[in-house]
Amino acid sequence: MELWQEMIRQSIHSVDQLVDKFKIDRTIAAKLDKFFQARVNPYYLSLIRYPGDPIWLQCVPDEKELEDIDGPEDPLNEDDMSPVPNITHRYPDRALFLVTSQCGLYCRFCTRKRKVGNSNKISLRNLESAFNYLAQHTEISDVILSGGDPLMHTDAMLEKILMRLREIKHIQVIRLGTKMPCVLPQRITPKLCNMLKKYHPIYVNTHFNHPWEITPESTKACNMLSDAGIPVGNQCVLMKGVNDNAETMRELMKGLLAIRVRPYYIYQADLTKGANHFRTPLEVGLDIMDKLRGHISGLAVPQFVIDAPGGGGKIPMLPNYVISRDEDKIILRNYKYNIYEYPDVRDESKVTSRDAYLRKQKKKRKVYDEKEMIANIKVPIANN
Ligand SMILES: *Cc1c(COP(=O)(O)O)cnc(C)c1O
Ligand code: SF4
Repeated sequence: MELWQEMIRQSIHSVDQLVDKFKIDRTIAAKLDKFFQARVNPYYLSLIRYPGDPIWLQCVPDEKELEDIDGPEDPLNEDDMSPVPNITHRYPDRALFLVTSQCGLYCRFCTRKRKVGNSNKISLRNLESAFNYLAQHTEISDVILSGGDPLMHTDAMLEKILMRLREIKHIQVIRLGTKMPCVLPQRITPKLCNMLKKYHPIYVNTHFNHPWEITPESTKACNMLSDAGIPVGNQCVLMKGVNDNAETMRELMKGLLAIRVRPYYIYQADLTKGANHFRTPLEVGLDIMDKLRGHISGLAVPQFVIDAPGGGGKIPMLPNYVISRDEDKIILRNYKYNIYEYPDVRDESKVTSRDAYLRKQKKKRKVYDEKEMIANIKVPIANN
């Protein structure tokens, strides 16, 4: 057995352990256990500094999960958009391929609780209809292995999956969505990296949510992946009490960049059942973005997205930088709230009735007043 497998075996899983280790009331621990299996591996456990800290909140079962019983089980309609088992096909040229229901740690905020944490083993034979679907749909050029965590498979099983995918000529990019570099970095071994790099182009998107997760171990894991020529990106979830302020996010994004992990997305928390207590007002995320862009390296600035309820996909959310716009100019503010005017290019062949209308309106309007415009910008909620 490899070290990482041994560490999963040594994880906190049972009601008894929850009662002993985290002082959770026994009846509540039993209910939580029924709601969504706990798994806290010894590595991630060692990152907890005090009860209720940002690491604890992500992995220790919380009574609050039981209060939120009305939330949807599948907020992103992944199951409705599943033409065959294990595939979600939402976008034109890429598909999500769920290859396991297991993870190295179970995140209390998980959007896929309905599928994750059960011990149903997925074998290659179970994936046959998915491989067939991917082979038949020549428009798919990017396959995202997810789950669960695809790195819960052994290297041998994962290699079988990759070989099958590489037989399909129209698949260009294979991505792995894995939390292992963050939650169980011991999973990233030289043997794994040597295997993965035979199947390039491979991309990894990992999932760090807090700067304390950047440790010597996780740094080593990310470096190994990068050294194997695998670009590593990060998708994080904005969560109350975990990372809902600009200072923490700045530290996280800069810390990731320093270990060669490129911040990719920040997600507004989904509406998942049992995870409502993690949600933040939209304004919090917009304020964080406002304090990232321009203030830190652009390489460290991810996109803030809402994964639209009902399966609309990821929709980017930006603070408002446009103060006004008409047919011949746009008035903008920068990250310091200074105002700039950019003259637009007028193309007479593209004049629409709306343009003509705006032109008429403009004649009636006074010249813009800078002070008034600054006053009209929505002021961010917190100063830091
Ligand atoms: C997120 C997601 C993708 C990938 O989206 P990108 O914006 O290309 O990263 C693909 N399919 C589904 C169902 C997704 O949720
Ligand atoms: S690793 Fe991903 S799929 Fe697994 S519990 Fe965490 S969020 Fe859910």
